[in-house]
Amino acid sequence: MQGLVYYLDKPGGTFAARQESIPELAPGEVRLRTARTSVCQSDVVIYKQGLPRIKSWPAIVLHEACCYVDAVGDGVESFRPGDLVGLGCDIPCGKDACIYCGEHGTGDWTSCPNTQATGHEFPGFARTYAVLPKWFVERGPIVKFPPGFDASQACQLEPLACCLEGMTRVNRCIENRIVVLIGAGSQSTYALQCAQAMQARKIILINRGQQRLDRVIRDFGDERVVGLRWDERVVENVKRECQPFNEPHFVMVNAPCREAYELAPQLMGYGTVLDGHAGVKGAGGKPRIAHEVDLNNDIHYRLQCYHATHGSSMHGIRLAQQFLSEGRLPKIDLMTNPSERFNHVDIQRAVERAAESDSLKVIVDWE
Ligand SMILES: [Zn+2]
Ligand SMILES: [Zn+2]
Repeated sequence: MQGLVYYLDKPGGTFAARQESIPELAPGEVRLRTARTSVCQSDVVIYKQGLPRIKSWPAIVLHEACCYVDAVGDGVESFRPGDLVGLGCDIPCGKDACIYCGEHGTGDWTSCPNTQATGHEFPGFARTYAVLPKWFVERGPIVKFPPGFDASQACQLEPLACCLEGMTRVNRCIENRIVVLIGAGSQSTYALQCAQAMQARKIILINRGQQRLDRVIRDFGDERVVGLRWDERVVENVKRECQPFNEPHFVMVNAPCREAYELAPQLMGYGTVLDGHAGVKGAGGKPRIAHEVDLNNDIHYRLQCYHATHGSSMHGIRLAQQFLSEGRLPKIDLMTNPSERFNHVDIQRAVERAAESDSLKVIVDWE
């Protein structure tokens, strides 16, 4: 049996399709037929400049995927041919004895020194078929959707899972609270919809570019949502919008830049939770971004919380599966307009479209 695999030859390179034979299934393995992939901004970074985590080229990218189960190996009971499954990006290291990823582990894969991810150390889903090893099937981030569920939504499981990890690591910071989202890209647009679903009191979206801010407010706004330009008056404007509170309750950094980490602490007040959600990487590695915190006055007396999440574990994956299959993000399809839908033969154009400043979520169809 043959499948089509798209290889990106090098950073800044091109995609080329190859026919490859699909190996026979060993016991415990599952063969998947890719249905949809969505394009992450990290795919854009890999496409343009590579990523230290990708050690061998050519590479198979794309980690936001949903697939149909095509066949199962002996002994697989939890999946059947025809099941629609969504996949996470961060995956166990594959070692049974690992205290993070293994049989008796905590499931905190991103803390494992041998952490790996699909589209990075593990081949991505820019291919028509994939065979998952037994450890992935048994302990990895793979969840079923209800029969007939829309594949274009299921493929967004992973980015939504990362977003929900950030919004649920600290209890009771969204419900009935004021939420500030820095940046108006896809993570903030998921966060906006999740905050609506979780009954936030008010959601303030901050962005530098007017075009994308307008798109997100137009398509996802309601009476609780306010869009603010990120200019020199942004701190006072946010605080004015928080009235009668003096400060927001949750600030999520969804712009992967130093300026966002310099803005966020200025919004901290009584009981504010800061989620450093987007990491900052540059050509010179991960820069240090310092901020002084008074452990007594800020943390103890003002109950401030500085936290972050990185990728997603089963907690976020299960939550995202629930939010999607229960229809709690009823406007999610608006994240992808006709100019953001591609067939796999146009994979290169799809990644280039995702790089454009007005784009929210590009989806590639593999059927
Ligand atoms: Zn992603
Ligand atoms: Zn491990």
